[in-house]
Amino acid sequence: MKSGFRSLPSVDKILSDARVMHCEEAYSRPTVLQITREYLGEARTSLKDGELAPSFDDIVNSICGRVSSLASISLRPVINATGVILHTNLGRAPLSKETISAMEECAISYVNLEIDLDNGKRGSRQVHVESLLCRLTGAESALVVNNNAAAVLLVLSSLAKRKEVIVSRGQAVEIGGGFRIPDVMRQSGAKLIEVGTTNRTYISDYEEAITPHTSALLRVHSSNFKVVGFAESVGIGDLVGLGKRYSVPVLDDIGSGCLIDTTRFGLEYEPLVQDSVKTGAGLVMFSADKLLGGPQAGIIVGREELVAKLRKHPLARAVRIDKVRLAGLAATLLHYVKGEAESKIPVWQMISMPFGDIEKRARGWSKALGKAASVIDGQSMIGGGSIPGGTLPTRLVCIDCRGKAQKLADELRRGSPSIVGRIEENNLILDPRTVLPEEDRILIKRLTGILDQ
Ligand SMILES: *Cc1c(COP(=O)(O)O)cnc(C)c1O
Repeated sequence: MKSGFRSLPSVDKILSDARVMHCEEAYSRPTVLQITREYLGEARTSLKDGELAPSFDDIVNSICGRVSSLASISLRPVINATGVILHTNLGRAPLSKETISAMEECAISYVNLEIDLDNGKRGSRQVHVESLLCRLTGAESALVVNNNAAAVLLVLSSLAKRKEVIVSRGQAVEIGGGFRIPDVMRQSGAKLIEVGTTNRTYISDYEEAITPHTSALLRVHSSNFKVVGFAESVGIGDLVGLGKRYSVPVLDDIGSGCLIDTTRFGLEYEPLVQDSVKTGAGLVMFSADKLLGGPQAGIIVGREELVAKLRKHPLARAVRIDKVRLAGLAATLLHYVKGEAESKIPVWQMISMPFGDIEKRARGWSKALGKAASVIDGQSMIGGGSIPGGTLPTRLVCIDCRGKAQKLADELRRGSPSIVGRIEENNLILDPRTVLPEEDRILIKRLTGILDQ
């Protein structure tokens, strides 16, 4: 039994080991040296705490393990079998093939991001999406930024700084991930005037709060919760009418940015961007990676005179979008222009997936997995801050794990490729709706591999 600092090998001795030298070839000497020193530092602390010194082999293996885990990117694909279509923790919308190609092409090379190729003069990066957005939403003007939180911050900073913005108390909400309307307001320098009560707000509440300092009426879509029962809120039409009478614009944070009528799929109505524009909202803000089904971005559409103020604000530069996502957004928007959103955009393919197709895949998986698996009824969720409580009937594969559902779920999640399902009543549940069809084979292979053990 060894103890004391002396029993730890020197840095030189470790670095001259053949296995460590091999690691060094795959990675660089400074990195291996850094990790070796870190490791020895921790080992010295453990020795002080009375632990035994590790063997030389253990030391070498630990160091090589750390180096090789550093050498792989920790962000990697996950198979989403949760049945939650827009899963924020899993990166929201997967992208269409066309979107990915457009992003790849622009990532590899230089692009005409801010140059007009006709005359060689400097141009705006926004031209690549602005006319598409105007065409699709009916708006006069559009601006794209980093995400919707940035869009709301930019809008309030540009139009409402040191002025008042009226919002219903029921809409001064937290969307998730720390996005709270009152906090964003404070950050923008706008003064939040809350009106009404948590469950009921009337048009007269807004009207009574209007003063010469009022810069806007703000509506925030309650994306991830629903007030049921004794509730009343003011529709966008009434708000716009009031805004017109007092010459204050209505700002509409609709969250999800839906362009397709969700009621066609048996879902509740999710505010459509084009409806909000048509009703007369001054600016409409929404995410590109929720129901729109594109890469992360925040989109603002509305009246030209308001958008012009946003363009000029210094924050616009701080929250600007990059060339790769701009290309991806344009490609995603093109699917809508071509009327092929449902057949090409993964989020909409999932929403519109025929029940029979889901059933067929669920049966296929279940058969391959053997007697532990069965097919049951269930619900897929839209998720990701859209259609609060919105679900679609689905067929699920239920795996009876004899009390070891968590263990199986952990193993599936940690392995490669990672698979995430959900646990219900001690069974592991997998929903084919959110698994991309090309992932079926690999999912079955991993599952049978684990279940056969
Ligand atoms: C999701 C959401 C946001 C935040 O959008 P990000 O694109 O995630 O920044 C803001 N407001 C509403 C109403 C939302 O639903």
